[in-house]
Amino acid sequence: MKLIDLYSDTQTVPTEGMRVAMATAKVGDEQMDGDPTTRELCIRVAEQLDFEAAVFMPSGTMCNLVATLVHTRPGDELIADAQSHICTTEGAGAAAIAGVAINPIPTRNGIFTADECRAAIREPSRTAPRSAMISIEQTTNFSGGAVWPIDVLHGVRDAALDAGLRTHIDGARLFNASAATGVPLKAYTDGWDSAWVDFSKAMGCPFGAVLCGDARFMRDAWTWKYRLGGAMRQSGIVAAAALYALDHHVTRLADDHANAALFIRLLASEPYFVFEAPNPITNLVLFRLQGLHVNTVTFVEHALQRGVRLRKLSDGRLRATTHLDVTRDQVVAAAGILNDLARELAADAS
Ligand SMILES: *Cc1c(COP(=O)(O)O)cnc(C)c1O
Repeated sequence: MKLIDLYSDTQTVPTEGMRVAMATAKVGDEQMDGDPTTRELCIRVAEQLDFEAAVFMPSGTMCNLVATLVHTRPGDELIADAQSHICTTEGAGAAAIAGVAINPIPTRNGIFTADECRAAIREPSRTAPRSAMISIEQTTNFSGGAVWPIDVLHGVRDAALDAGLRTHIDGARLFNASAATGVPLKAYTDGWDSAWVDFSKAMGCPFGAVLCGDARFMRDAWTWKYRLGGAMRQSGIVAAAALYALDHHVTRLADDHANAALFIRLLASEPYFVFEAPNPITNLVLFRLQGLHVNTVTFVEHALQRGVRLRKLSDGRLRATTHLDVTRDQVVAAAGILNDLARELAADAS
């Protein structure tokens, strides 16, 4: 039986069409802006997010780090949701490389309000660290793919800008937010100092992310990209995959969201799974187990033996992700397998 891989939307492999686009891409030297395909990608993404300029990066993690390096000085403070990728999953790069302290805001679903943002910003003083930057995730990853409502997003942006902070959007799944709400990408990124989108997540590319900002931000971003390891030369091979995804993989994101909602519906009919489903639902599903007397590690192992791969999060929650390489039928099959497994485990327990 073929594995149904719900571990992450990073588990996709390039489609045939994408591979053809990659194989036939026009390439040059990205270091000198001489790679035409990378240039085209940067222009298109900057246009879609309404920024002056963009730079192609190997990863979203590097976009967050470069933006932090541009927006802050060592000893400054960065404000972000406590569960955010930048706080929990980037090896403390902000601290280790940018010399920045993180001021995490505890949230229920990765979203904080303008008031919570204002409360986290420190008064300028001789003794306090300087609050220099906020970062938000659209959609939230470890909070279950919740979408920031646009008024909340802009309220937080204004609170930060009023206090002189720089504002940054981690848009690893910004395309998903837009697909779920119909709000254009550029409406979300309007007025922010920097934002990026990932192509290795729901977009189905091998790797790569595009970081946007104004021309001045971009000069500094390029310097930091260089300092962190340099340019990518014939990066058009990978940029071609991203261009292909912009043409072919954006409208289909609605399928992933419908599949995630279906998965929740099929499992929620049983008493063993407790969901924290946001509204709207995107492609990430978080849940807990209930009444099974097995821990999440054991449950994940059993599920894998039966052909369904889930991700265990650190705090007893499980995550399932729908994506390009999971069909609706596979989602139905996965829900059936998990329901059967839970019923058997519940019977064992009683
Ligand atoms: C995956 C992810 C990142 C990092 O992106 P990579 O391309 O995997 O380095 C950053 N932020 C969020 C919210 C993510 O989900």
